Amino acid sequence: MTHTGTVYLVGAGPGDPELLTLRAARLIESASLIVHDGLVDPAILALASADARLISVAKKRSKHTLPQDQINALLVREARAGRDVIRLKGGDPFVFGRGGEEMEDCHAAGVPVQVVPGISAANGAAAASGIPLTHRDSASIVSFVAGQCKGLKDQNWAGLAGKNRTLVIYMGVKTAPQIAEKLMEDGLAPDMPVAIIENAARPEMRVLRGPLAALPQLVEQQQVISPALIVIGDVTARENTAVAQMALEAAA
Ligand code: SAH
Repeated sequence: MTHTGTVYLVGAGPGDPELLTLRAARLIESASLIVHDGLVDPAILALASADARLISVAKKRSKHTLPQDQINALLVREARAGRDVIRLKGGDPFVFGRGGEEMEDCHAAGVPVQVVPGISAANGAAAASGIPLTHRDSASIVSFVAGQCKGLKDQNWAGLAGKNRTLVIYMGVKTAPQIAEKLMEDGLAPDMPVAIIENAARPEMRVLRGPLAALPQLVEQQQVISPALIVIGDVTARENTAVAQMALEAAA
């Protein structure tokens, strides 16, 4: 009987290899098979040994290189053939990473799974931009939402943004106009401060700020590209943003 391999769902963090967990770094370095998505920074893939097999299942919005069920099937097939699989994902595997689906399909096929958490984009972006997600004077509630999902209009975000709250929107660049409209329809003030953090924790990071009403223009005029997070709330307008200033000056 062939031994069944283990699938490791590993979070690669937001970009900088320094932000990997020790466990993730060790697994990548010793892997013989890595299945990774497009968000994983090349500098992280460079940690793999020269004879490791790297399979990209990169996903671009509405352009799936490999549909999710085929990714799941690939993981199961390799594990059943006796190979350990490092399934490397940007950020954390269980935050908008479809890690839950991959885990379920592996379990259904009798394949053992281990999950290694990663620094999610929200945490990486907060640290790199100097925008605290919570602050005793500004926010004691944080929510993560997906800005590009089925039926955005029908998603109930009421109460997630506003006074004393921080709303972090993943995958929201393309739908920024609908997002701004939706939030204002929910009663959010047009001058609610907003930040866009593009390429957080990477050398090319940009942090842009403005009022909610100007979010669509900010995205368009500054030609914001993915990956980027949109953060809504008073924390984005606090004075204490020296970290981002330093990053911006260093990049200039
Ligand atoms: N599992 C990932 C999220 C995957 S969804 C995590 O935990 O971070 C993909 C979205 O994550 C992107 O559209 C973007 O909104 C966000 N994202 C990922 N990496 C990012 C980065 N370095 N900077 C800004 N946003 C990022």
